[in-house]
Amino acid sequence: MSVLFLKPGREKSLLRRHPWIFSGAVARVEGAPAPGATVDVCSAEGKFLARAAYSPHSQIQGRVWTFEPEQTVDADFLRRRVRASLRARHLLGLEDTTNAVRLVHAESDGLPGLIVDKYADVLVVQFLAWGVEYWRQTLIEILCEETGLQAIYERSDAEARALEGLSMRTGWIRGSFLETRRLIQENGLHFQVDLASGHKTGFYLDQRANRLRVRALAAGREVLDCFCYTGGFSINALAGGAKSVLSVDSSAEALSLCRLHVAENNLPIGRHATIEGDVFSLLRKFRDEGRSFDLIVLDPPKFAPTAAQAGKAARGYKDINRLAFKLLRPDGFLVTFSCSGGVDAALFQKIVASAALDAGVDAQIVETLTQAADHPISLHFPEGAYLKGLVCLKRA
Ligand code: SAH
Repeated sequence: MSVLFLKPGREKSLLRRHPWIFSGAVARVEGAPAPGATVDVCSAEGKFLARAAYSPHSQIQGRVWTFEPEQTVDADFLRRRVRASLRARHLLGLEDTTNAVRLVHAESDGLPGLIVDKYADVLVVQFLAWGVEYWRQTLIEILCEETGLQAIYERSDAEARALEGLSMRTGWIRGSFLETRRLIQENGLHFQVDLASGHKTGFYLDQRANRLRVRALAAGREVLDCFCYTGGFSINALAGGAKSVLSVDSSAEALSLCRLHVAENNLPIGRHATIEGDVFSLLRKFRDEGRSFDLIVLDPPKFAPTAAQAGKAARGYKDINRLAFKLLRPDGFLVTFSCSGGVDAALFQKIVASAALDAGVDAQIVETLTQAADHPISLHFPEGAYLKGLVCLKRA
């Protein structure tokens, strides 16, 4: 087996079981491993540290499969990892609430770079790193066998692939339905998910529990759902008895699904409206018009994928949160999120605090939110905690 030797003193993160080996920590690679092949990772002194997937073109040159020297990375190993993921999901008892679940959450499930989401009778998979790309066929077999599902759609079109030097790949891998749209159930509501053109793998499964929170807070309120996509929060707000819901997104396609969801869930169409536009300018327009709301959701796209973009992202978050605080009535809730890996929970809270300060608003955090339980966070991989949310109450 090929061996990747670290520079002296660069083994600390591996000893803490962090699964990434950055290129700057690598002294040399002995042998000629193919991209994605398994290599032994050793300290400068030659001590075994881990067994990892080799990714020659990435800043993350190795992703650890195992820290156990006696474990071989093969089909059995991968099957055990997949089974452990599935068992963990089963333990969460999500079957009662939904048929759309993240079954494998990459590094946090010991399968670096692999995302598997189940939407009713279809698996949607993303192979986002060389290691899982190398084992792609094996993993597909295992996933079919272990889930008993016959249809798999691939959405390996995330930016992460470009960083690995992998090209994009999408389409049916196994089975196929004429339609790439599937109907899913979640907490008594249903949603259409477009596996081919939807964001991520089709739906924001990570917001499931937070949608339910918004449902619980929405009764009798005038709601503004910014960056609504296909209406996850809007539909839940209506289901929770909102007086009115205004859904805003820049995507006409997302908004048409959002309207469809209102109708298909038998919710009061008369209480719902959509606006296609840019949230940044719309919030300004609403401020100038003196409009106000009782509950505002801000769930923008990723402004900062890595810490390098944190500064620019912070300005973006501050801007929309400041404007939202201004539009919020006293006793109103601001439900605000960041899914940027480059902005951690502490920084996000600071940004929201300074937004409130600039808006001249007295607000308190009444709840902190995170990603749904089927998006676990390995204790050794804090990067896995990407979704941060705050529910702020504007004081009268
Ligand atoms: N809240 C949604 C997910 C939001 S994803 C849910 O729970 O399902 C982010 C959304 O923001 C996308 O739908 C994207 O089309 C939209 N978007 C991105 N930039 C925008 C902008 N400047 N103004 C309005 N919408 C924007």
